[in-house]
Amino acid sequence: MSGAILVISGPSGAGKSSIISRASKEIGDYYFSISSTTRPPREGEVDGVNYHFISKDEFEEDIDKGDFLEYARVHGNYYGTSMKAVKEALSEGKLVIFDIDVQGHAMIRQRIHHIVTSVFITPPSIDALKARLHSRNSDDDAIIEKRVKNSKDEVESICDYDFVIINDDLDKAVDEFISIAKASKLKYKSEVLEKFIKQWKNL
Ligand code: 5GP
Repeated sequence: MSGAILVISGPSGAGKSSIISRASKEIGDYYFSISSTTRPPREGEVDGVNYHFISKDEFEEDIDKGDFLEYARVHGNYYGTSMKAVKEALSEGKLVIFDIDVQGHAMIRQRIHHIVTSVFITPPSIDALKARLHSRNSDDDAIIEKRVKNSKDEVESICDYDFVIINDDLDKAVDEFISIAKASKLKYKSEVLEKFIKQWKNL
């Protein structure tokens, strides 16, 4: 597999999707991994585009079959990344972008550390996060409360990431993200480097 992986995490409402869509033209060929989830679709979300929306039973069956590269329970719902499409994109040499939570990042780091670059995207403060969640008008107060509470746990993993983007200026955040995405494609796998060293030393 010759591609690379860029993991993006951060609280819901941090602006991850806006940053990715604004940056998409600048970062070249990439594959955005579409996760499966048991959470119900929000207004405007499309099955197979935003997520694969599946039932809890289907999700648990896929866990048993070993179909997931990683999965986690977030805000009371399952979210996971299927192995198949990701493997295909990696074997085509593509950059694969994941928008996953901190548990998923930890799992991926354990499994395929050598091709992973990661970035944590966050609003500048918890008050800014609350304001954004309220202004996007897609979740009720109880769900917003859950997401805010979850962000307090998530932020504890911030040091595990290669990069952090504090999104208080969208243009600046998009520029920073483009630099990180371009750099993530240049990450060499240890096997490739070992081969390079052997050739260099004529072993
Ligand atoms: P939302 O419900 O706002 O779309 O997503 C909630 C959280 O689930 C976000 O932090 C998002 O990054 C995370 N998430 C989405 N897909 C996946 C996935 O496939 N795996 C994991 N571990 N987390 C995911």
